Amino acid sequence: MGQQLSNEQLVASAKEFGTPLYIYHAEKIKEQYEKLAAAFSILDTRFFYASKALTNINILRYIKSIGCNVDCSSINEVKLALHAGFIPGNILYTSNGIAFDEIEEAVAAGVHINIDSLSNLEKFGKKYGHTYPVGIRIRPNIMAGGNLKISTGHEGSKFGIPVSQLDKIEELVREHTIFIKTLHIHTGSDIKDADVFVKGMEVLFDIIPHFPELEIIDLGGGFKVPYKPGEKETDVHLLAKKIKETFEAHPLAGNKKFQLWFEPGKFLVSECGYLVTQVTVVKDTGTTIFAAVNSGLNHLIRPMMYEAYHHIENISNPGGTEKVYTVTGNICETDNFGIDRKLKEVREGDLLVLYNAGAYGFEMSSNYNSRYKPAEVLVINDKTKLIRKRDEFNDLLRNQLEVL
Ligand SMILES: *Cc1c(COP(=O)(O)O)cnc(C)c1O
Repeated sequence: MGQQLSNEQLVASAKEFGTPLYIYHAEKIKEQYEKLAAAFSILDTRFFYASKALTNINILRYIKSIGCNVDCSSINEVKLALHAGFIPGNILYTSNGIAFDEIEEAVAAGVHINIDSLSNLEKFGKKYGHTYPVGIRIRPNIMAGGNLKISTGHEGSKFGIPVSQLDKIEELVREHTIFIKTLHIHTGSDIKDADVFVKGMEVLFDIIPHFPELEIIDLGGGFKVPYKPGEKETDVHLLAKKIKETFEAHPLAGNKKFQLWFEPGKFLVSECGYLVTQVTVVKDTGTTIFAAVNSGLNHLIRPMMYEAYHHIENISNPGGTEKVYTVTGNICETDNFGIDRKLKEVREGDLLVLYNAGAYGFEMSSNYNSRYKPAEVLVINDKTKLIRKRDEFNDLLRNQLEVL
């Protein structure tokens, strides 16, 4: 389980900053990073935090302060990373489905780039030839991940260049003398099984000999974290051991020492985050007792989008008797946070906390139903700092031009 904020700390923050409130715990991020770094110290490894999970500038700066690099999925994330103080050499841009001008901007910024289509690879080759070492994202045709919406490496997925199109990649590389320095795969999210990464490597080892200038094997992110009590995270020590063995089992391809890259998002920031909400209405319909809170899918969309499980607790009534509730939001769509959950008796006004709210929580939030986006606070060295103000009414009108 590791470090966790206490109920008292969560309640105190909710009192000070109001609800709904995203609370992040800096030292938990560090704990997760150090776990990874320790496990992979047996290999030459670099970690790039997949910043799309949570891009608050303070989180990016904290990630930098603990020695981690950053992975970006848009040119704006690259700009945020630069703004946070990362040097270009510590920034990776893994693109997908983007216009070539974003890649040109990334080259101008001097960051590492993984290209995800033959079309952009061709444009890249024509413009930069051998002058700018680059990575390619390969689709290994492996099914993995907790849910189809977060699986990215299978046949039918839009991500990467299918490994079956190797001949086309080679043609472009030959024609434009492209310097391929990285082979990248990212097969999905919520991957507990180390063998998925090994399978991905096996696919890469088949094609490594075709890229003599290769320096880096990038296995993406997707490590699983526990969402339910008692669940286990990816065993990163076992994973590191298996990956080392896989390298050693391929002495031909491994004549050269490759650096290993990873892009963890969830693993670093999922558990550091808490969404604290307040119960607005308790409604007993005879079949279900609904506990409605002052939040919804506009603030945390994962339960409705991926059927993600977020553990919920009533932190206002720890001594109450347990009952079964469906915790729901206040949005004009079905926006259950949790169905048939055992909670300590819930009263209107109680605070309910949703765990694992750091990754893809605030980041995917919206103003749907013209509700305000929540505030965000960071707990660091036992001090709680406001790192984003709650929206105000003017934020709903920002960028609108009142022409009528
Ligand atoms: C989303 C993403 C990641 C991070 O995935 P997690 O499941 O959060 O670890 C890493 N690499 C790429 C290319 C991604 O798109």
